[in-house]
Amino acid sequence: MPDIRPDLTKITLDSWDLEVFRQNELRVDILRLDKIHSEISGNKWFKLKYFLEKANHNNKRTLISFGGAYSNHLLALAATARLHGLSSIGMIRGEQPLLLSHTLIAAKEYGMKLIFLPRTLFDQNKRSDLSDNWVEKYTDLKVETIRDSMLIPEGGAGIEGLRGAEEILSLVPQREYSHICLAVGTGTTLAGLVNSSHPDLKLIGISILKGTRDLEPIDISWLKDRFKIANVQMVHDYHFGGYAKYNASLTGSMNTTYAESGIPTDFVYTGKLLFAVISMADMKLFPLGSRILVLHTGGLQGNRSLTPGLLGF
Ligand SMILES: *Cc1c(COP(=O)(O)O)cnc(C)c1O
Repeated sequence: MPDIRPDLTKITLDSWDLEVFRQNELRVDILRLDKIHSEISGNKWFKLKYFLEKANHNNKRTLISFGGAYSNHLLALAATARLHGLSSIGMIRGEQPLLLSHTLIAAKEYGMKLIFLPRTLFDQNKRSDLSDNWVEKYTDLKVETIRDSMLIPEGGAGIEGLRGAEEILSLVPQREYSHICLAVGTGTTLAGLVNSSHPDLKLIGISILKGTRDLEPIDISWLKDRFKIANVQMVHDYHFGGYAKYNASLTGSMNTTYAESGIPTDFVYTGKLLFAVISMADMKLFPLGSRILVLHTGGLQGNRSLTPGLLGF
């Protein structure tokens, strides 16, 4: 169990140079937030930062949140709680499987208590507001534990998560860029970027969920300057069948990107993002001369659930 602290000085801003970018006069950089920590990686560190502060402030000793079996968020939460001497509880969507995912095994090693909830039950609750009755009825938690806990919405999708995400762009000379591309799950990170970006910066979110459309899943009420909505574009064509779905074309592209550029990606988020950026450059969807910043939001630990040998890194 790597018990080292997240380290922001490890973040690098690298240029990502491909023939297809040069042909289209694009200059592309990639912000390697994945380097912060093996498990509290990428945007998750930023999204948890202010929840942690709030827990300390309110003297809450336990952090509770929600997620699926491959949740980067829950693992980051478990590791963060451990580093700060707090307890953590993960409410997991679905019945307990015979074999736990690597993500959940790692979360457990960090001391997270796992509570499995049937899908309908999981999907019904608001995930940010559990009544004592609900908890008593469906879990073995004591009411005192709940009172002593802070609930963090699934994926860190709350105002505190948004505030943390608003700090990401302070790491880069954002005026040098015309576009930022990132993978989108709950949309919290993207909303934070919108709130902290200069007025002409175009933000392109690649949805990794199936069935999203228009500006989904962004919560528009989180955007401080509503006029900036015009700068936001959500792209829905690169989910590869939906959350955590993949095929040989995706893993092939991830292997090629690693071999050509030395950039490791995960199959749930960043693999799809980098695939999308290459594909959109190839389709000439970026104006000539664009300066593009790609956010590597981490999540590499998720690759441990793939068949060994599928990825060459
Ligand atoms: C959680 C996650 C995202 C999505 O972030 P949102 O703020 O929920 O949109 C993107 N990339 C990685 C690697 C993640 O773990």
